[in-house]
Amino acid sequence: MTKAYSYACRDCEGMETCPASMTAETKEELWQLTGLHAQIAHGENPADWDAETRAYLETLIKEVDV
Ligand SMILES: [Zn+2]
Repeated sequence: MTKAYSYACRDCEGMETCPASMTAETKEELWQLTGLHAQIAHGENPADWDAETRAYLETLIKEVDV
């Protein structure tokens, strides 16, 4: 088994209806995927996320076994 990091968009406040979730081997990759998803699906610019937003999103990242 390998460790991976997973993020489900619906866990985020206000995104309960979003079906997207992503899993990556590293947190770095997961952040990129999450940022890309936020851009494509929600019209957000990840560059605008402040420290508070990032800290909140960080709490939603789960470590999973794959
Ligand atoms: Zn989403």
